[in-house]
Amino acid sequence: MEKAIDLIQSSNSIILLSHKNPDGDAVGSVLGLAQGLESIGKKVKCFSKDVIPSVFDFLPSISQIENTIEPEHQDLIVLLDCALFSRTGIENIKDIVSSFDNLLIIDHHPKDKTECDRINNCVAVIDHKVSSTAVLTFNLLKGLNINITKNIANCLLTGIFTDTGGFQHNNTDPQSLQAAAEFMKKGSRIDKIAKNIFNTKSLAAIKLWGIALERIQNNPESGMAISYISKSDMDNLGVKEEELMGLVNVINTISDAKFSLLLTESADNKIKGSLRSEKYKGIDVSRIARSLGGGGHKLASGFEINSTDITKSIDEIRKAILKNKS
Ligand code: 5GP
Ligand code: MN
Repeated sequence: MEKAIDLIQSSNSIILLSHKNPDGDAVGSVLGLAQGLESIGKKVKCFSKDVIPSVFDFLPSISQIENTIEPEHQDLIVLLDCALFSRTGIENIKDIVSSFDNLLIIDHHPKDKTECDRINNCVAVIDHKVSSTAVLTFNLLKGLNINITKNIANCLLTGIFTDTGGFQHNNTDPQSLQAAAEFMKKGSRIDKIAKNIFNTKSLAAIKLWGIALERIQNNPESGMAISYISKSDMDNLGVKEEELMGLVNVINTISDAKFSLLLTESADNKIKGSLRSEKYKGIDVSRIARSLGGGGHKLASGFEINSTDITKSIDEIRKAILKNKS
């Protein structure tokens, strides 16, 4: 952390970015850090390749996150909630990389390797024991003696809240709750964050969740509960992919299943897999995700594959998982 603090103190122009398909921890950590750094006079730019899901529209300064990125000189690039450039999903990342002086990685994913293995001038703050990147970002801001405003608190609390599944997942720990308490003292409201992110749905989205729940197959051989949503399911009901956030957690409440998998077809001929399990079930779903080219945490991980036919891909994925487990 000391090196990260020095690096930020000696940098003036800083660009912040996170992983593709940004979640609450990615968006909250980027915006919380951005506002903190601006308060001490840094010139900050935030970037996301993918559109930010509209459930995060309530976050302060959300419009600050840009959708295009120009390769221009920056003192520092900060990669949050991911440790590899490939996870950013940015095609011209190589050009952008060549235009900064230093790289800082802040992440909580278990990792064998990070971008720092390949790049000089790189500092990594990685702790896979913390619940979220937002907790690490909070520690960094405190280390920089930055005043935590209500806006910063709202952003970081959103990161902790979403990555702990509303303080219900196994990664919920005293450090996260203490941070949450400090954010509440600054004026953050957990009920408002919960309402915006988890508890506001359109009728069409709830109906689509119903289709996915109806389709669940529980495979006793692999212990997997699997379901899927195709592009045409979403189009027929006029529901956006982002409205499926949280659905896999409902599938994962089936006590008979060892782990759950939700496959979602996106517009660009890709299928996104979301895997979940529970600690007492003794399964490491990040191993399954890695075997399919993805990654993540032991109890929450994901992958993406190219596919033009979701039903064919479901069979292939099912077989690959069965083979991997035997
Ligand atoms: P979700 O299912 O909510 O999209 O993702 C759950 C977890 O898996 C997150 O921690 C996320 O970082 C990780 N994850 C999701 N998709 C991918 C992927 O395509 N590649 C990697 N490496 N990790 C992923
Ligand atoms: Mn995270």
